[in-house]
Amino acid sequence: MIFNTVEEAQANCRYWQEILRLQDWDVIIELVHHHELNGVIAAVSSNEYLKVARISLLRAEELRKEDMDMESSLVHELLHVHTKDWEILNRKYEHSDVLQEQAIESLTKAIIKLNRKTVKICVVNDALRQ
Ligand SMILES: [Zn+2]
Repeated sequence: MIFNTVEEAQANCRYWQEILRLQDWDVIIELVHHHELNGVIAAVSSNEYLKVARISLLRAEELRKEDMDMESSLVHELLHVHTKDWEILNRKYEHSDVLQEQAIESLTKAIIKLNRKTVKICVVNDALRQ
């Protein structure tokens, strides 16, 4: 899924915030250029006390073909909000940041896959009812 506008990204974010139980968070999405992201395709900064987060997503026109699933990047960054405290472990244990990224990426893939399957089933069921 590609977001062409911030509004599209923000609407998708609200959808995922509800599923991931982050609906009481104020999450702001911004679509940014490559030079603003230091070589990554998405980033998040968050404050758990204020329950605010800012997610930066690389603009669609600057993404490589294999990174085109912006919804997946969004879910990945939202899961970072839940696991922010793990960063304390990252300072203490070598490679725990890699383990955190692996866990988040596995969960992202599973959640997105399940969601898309469910949406597909709902579309088929709706079509059969008509
Ligand atoms: Zn990550």
